Amino acid sequence: MVVKRIGLVAHDARKADLVDWAKARRDLLAPHSLIATGTTGGALRDATGLEIECMKSGPLGGDSQIGARIAEGKLDILVFFTDPLSALPHDVDVKALTRLATLYNTVLACNRATADYVIESPYLLREYRHGELPGTYE
Ligand code: PGA
Repeated sequence: MVVKRIGLVAHDARKADLVDWAKARRDLLAPHSLIATGTTGGALRDATGLEIECMKSGPLGGDSQIGARIAEGKLDILVFFTDPLSALPHDVDVKALTRLATLYNTVLACNRATADYVIESPYLLREYRHGELPGTYE
């Protein structure tokens, strides 16, 4: 069993969607190491009982804390349900987080369909070298 480090973040308009997804996928998520931004993590813990390490709320630095995990090579997968219909005060943090996920070749799922494909992927159960800067992995 390979334990993946999975980040979970949802903007307000997408939190119900992420909670619903996590409830449906609870057994697949449970063996892994989960971190989340503050409000998202609290909602997920209440709804699923999953053990989740909570960062600060996203707009107060939680997105940046998760971005730091990526930069340190300590996150394998980011499930980030972004809100495509609203302007957000912390848009710069959102951009920084998705930018770092892209830069470090971190798996990034921004909607439910992608999250489903990721959570059912055979790669979830085996080692996969990523989290390194492009050009440095084989
Ligand atoms: P939150 O942060 O989980 O604390 O609401 C999410 C976000 O980045 O908007």
